[in-house]
Amino acid sequence: MAQLIDGKAIATRLRGRIAEQTAEFQRQTGVTPHLAAVLVGDDPASAVYVRSKQRACEHAGLRSTLHRLDAGVSQSELLTLVDQLNNDADVHGILVQLPLPRQIAETAVLDAVSPLKDVDCFHPENVGLLSQGRPRFQPCTPAGCQALLKESGIETAGAHVVVLGRSEIVGKPMALLMVQKGKTADATVTVCHSRTRNLSAITRQADILIAALGRPQFVTAEMVQPGVVVIDVGINRTADGALVGDVDFASVSAVARAITPVPGGVGPMTIAMLLQNTLTAARLQQSRR
Ligand code: NDP
Repeated sequence: MAQLIDGKAIATRLRGRIAEQTAEFQRQTGVTPHLAAVLVGDDPASAVYVRSKQRACEHAGLRSTLHRLDAGVSQSELLTLVDQLNNDADVHGILVQLPLPRQIAETAVLDAVSPLKDVDCFHPENVGLLSQGRPRFQPCTPAGCQALLKESGIETAGAHVVVLGRSEIVGKPMALLMVQKGKTADATVTVCHSRTRNLSAITRQADILIAALGRPQFVTAEMVQPGVVVIDVGINRTADGALVGDVDFASVSAVARAITPVPGGVGPMTIAMLLQNTLTAARLQQSRR
């Protein structure tokens, strides 16, 4: 049976460290790091995500405010709000919860967030810095996966990491992080997507498999080699309301060396990284005063 990589416990430890660093920053500067969250429409899952991010901020001593907009809001109204938050010296990080309603071009909104307040690391300037190996912010979910490997003592140098998915939010930045030079990286990376041929032949070569497809229980025991380490990013709700990952936990955990559960794996780490980025944003802005 595989070792369980307990994201909840690891995230709790990280959040404790962030809370200490936040308190220290406050003592030195008198400033409380402040995350402004923007929630458009009334998608229940998005509302839950935003609420848990806000709660995590408060527990770690960061300030959080929520800006709720109607589902029918226009792109220009949303851009006006982003502009106000960009210019508000009291706000250090801006989070625009995705997905946005159809009438709004996500890229236009994400590009409008000040790169210094871009705590999700979606702005092209920040993605560029990341790809050059000198990140300003860490992409939250991929950095959360990387931290899980590090905290679990899993060696990545020289390992074959197979990433399933090439989204801008998870797959692509995940591959960027793992291929960088340095500790907890230095991997040989393969990125797979819906056009990949002979997927199982590739996944079976993985020393570390990171699944981010959004397909419930897609990865089965036949698709992995014994001793693989599996990080399951997927969050899927089944017809009976249960949460499952992109990995068939029951069969894969019987052959893997280590595996994350869903829930309680990557999800809590994403939030911890968001807090870290908000503190980083506050430090950055303070240093430029
Ligand atoms: P996207 O839908 O944006 O991307 C999915 C990727 O998987 C695409 O690159 C797609 O390929 C690829 N894919 C889909 N089906 C297949 C297939 N059959 N074979 C091979 N590749 C396939 O999803 P996200 O990256 O945003 O999210 C992925 C999952 O992670 C979701 O379940 C999401 O809910 C979860 N998630 C979890 C987070 C957390 O904190 N735990 C945070 C963010 C996401 P192509 O590009 O060719 O279409």
